[in-house]
Amino acid sequence: MSRDARRAERYMERKLAGLCTQCGVPAAPDVQQCEVHIAKAREATREAAVRRRAQFRLEGVCANGCGTKSQRYYCAACTVKIARFPSHSVNVGVNVRPSDEYRTRKHADGRTRYHGQMVRGRQPTAQLDDQDITHAIEALQKARSALAYVASPAVQELPRIQREAAKREALSQADHGQRFIEDLLDRNRYASGMQLTDPATARRRVIQQSKKR
Ligand SMILES: [Zn+2]
Ligand SMILES: [Zn+2]
Repeated sequence: MSRDARRAERYMERKLAGLCTQCGVPAAPDVQQCEVHIAKAREATREAAVRRRAQFRLEGVCANGCGTKSQRYYCAACTVKIARFPSHSVNVGVNVRPSDEYRTRKHADGRTRYHGQMVRGRQPTAQLDDQDITHAIEALQKARSALAYVASPAVQELPRIQREAAKREALSQADHGQRFIEDLLDRNRYASGMQLTDPATARRRVIQQSKKR
């Protein structure tokens, strides 16, 4: 048997036995490696990312790998996306955080959903409402900071295409906030019998307003 075949066989044996595929000690729950080898793999991934970013900078492009020529570490759009605003940009105070009393999990669709036990005396819908509005406020504050950054001289002196990319990124934060509000309104529409604005109507309104500008 070749060395590769032997290695592949050992890999499968360990995998099926719930052992670390690299060293054979019991693997951590739900994964195929032990804690040590998980940490090593993570470190290797992190180091590769550092090297990749350094290489992008040597080539004079944005460290995020978007391909935009950039004098700064990240281009304007990626600065907004990653939300590492330069220190001169406007910092919008008000500190909102979702309360720790809720157990939440981030889903594949990017939204956070409630999964824990109900806090006594509170309806789950009230918890979801609070979460949605908290996330909406966070997204809108991020959008506000991002728009202030886009309006700053650092971004305004960039080529038009880069300014527009940064602004699109900032506006997508606002859109993200709006989606939480839509969830909130949808959840309550039928339960409360209230005449709330239809999300599609609200969205059309936003599009119309942005066209006017
Ligand atoms: Zn191991
Ligand atoms: Zn970039």
